[in-house]
Amino acid sequence: MKILVANLGSTSLKYRLFEFEGERTELLHRGGFERVSDYASAIDDCLKDLGEAGVLVSEEDLAAVAFKTIMAKDRSGCVLVDDDVLAAMEACNYIAPAHNPPYVEGIRIFSRKMPGTPMIALFETAFYQWIPEATRRYAVPEDWYELGVRRFGFHGASHKFIAERSAELLERLDVAERAKSLYSGNGPAPPPSGAPPLRVISCHLGGSSSVTGLLDGVAIGNSFGTSPQSGLPQNNRSGDLDPFALLHVMREKNLSVEEAERVLSTESGLNALSGGYNDLRDIKEKADAGDACAATAIDVYIAQIRHWIGAFHLSLNGIDALVFTAGIGENNPWLREKVCAGLDQLGIALDPPANEAAIATEKVISTGDSRVTVIVIPTNEEAVVAREARRLLVRENLPAGRKN
Ligand code: ADP
Repeated sequence: MKILVANLGSTSLKYRLFEFEGERTELLHRGGFERVSDYASAIDDCLKDLGEAGVLVSEEDLAAVAFKTIMAKDRSGCVLVDDDVLAAMEACNYIAPAHNPPYVEGIRIFSRKMPGTPMIALFETAFYQWIPEATRRYAVPEDWYELGVRRFGFHGASHKFIAERSAELLERLDVAERAKSLYSGNGPAPPPSGAPPLRVISCHLGGSSSVTGLLDGVAIGNSFGTSPQSGLPQNNRSGDLDPFALLHVMREKNLSVEEAERVLSTESGLNALSGGYNDLRDIKEKADAGDACAATAIDVYIAQIRHWIGAFHLSLNGIDALVFTAGIGENNPWLREKVCAGLDQLGIALDPPANEAAIATEKVISTGDSRVTVIVIPTNEEAVVAREARRLLVRENLPAGRKN
């Protein structure tokens, strides 16, 4: 069974083609295009590339196209996309302006081009369906809550992958299995009995960043709130902000809702603090050259990562492992060192040579006697999406490809 996972950015299309033999999966091909202005031709190019690579002779060999979609009104989990699902996604366009519209548009174009192929969405909110009520709620009126003003959490596919993989690396296959089967039943399986709880904090640090607490493979919370603009400072989005700060600036500067939205979602975050840089590599270079704004951007980012690690550390009553993943987390030893600095009382001791050596590779970076195992794990969100899509096809008894 072949499943194509398409990652749709506002100006990019990235894709991976997976083949399944039962639950066993193999990545057949990956590719992508940047600066996409026309999805229809980018999708044609993607299919052409898969054909030329010899991994997909005809689109009829595809069992499904699957997407790591962000959010939809009153929906989550892994679902077959139909007009209702697309409408529910569109209803969240204002909340996720950088993310939802490209997915809605891209899925529509994929569906038109491949009318017989199931389109499957795994929402980024799915992993947080079981977080406690006390963590989910903001202190706002009930009708605001009903409108969706609550902590959803995002980066679900990535943190779920970390939940599975960290448990495997810590030789807790019982927990890895619990995490892997999470969406298959009616909620998490009971925690493994007789074994101590496995407590992990996962730091997904990239263009978008978030921190999640994991108890026995299940999320207990995530630093994102109602929208992907919240939590940690993002590359060009503000992260958490006092709501009255927004009202104050809108009044003082006479900003419209649209202008405020633009500033918060494209001109804030590390970009605003650093004086115009989106990429942490550029910000670090500036800071090293003595730029005070760039240094402040880094300090604020690290302070917020530590703030969220602290929150989950307390909720979990200590941790067994701390994981770094995504573009920033996987590639920047200096940042990991700053995040972990001075935490010996929490049992966190980095091994400097191991940390320096861990670039885009899976590696333990703590000392042998560190109470907490610190690990770099390259994330694999697409594999989680493909696996859940396959399970949905099997549950729904859909063919493994129209030719098969
Ligand atoms: P996105 O959230 O857009 O998928 P990524 O996970 O690719 O983002 O992360 C982008 C960030 O990762 C950038 O800020 C960049 O500085 C950092 N990054 C990516 N690759 C490297 C690298 N090889 N070395 C240092 N930093 C990197």
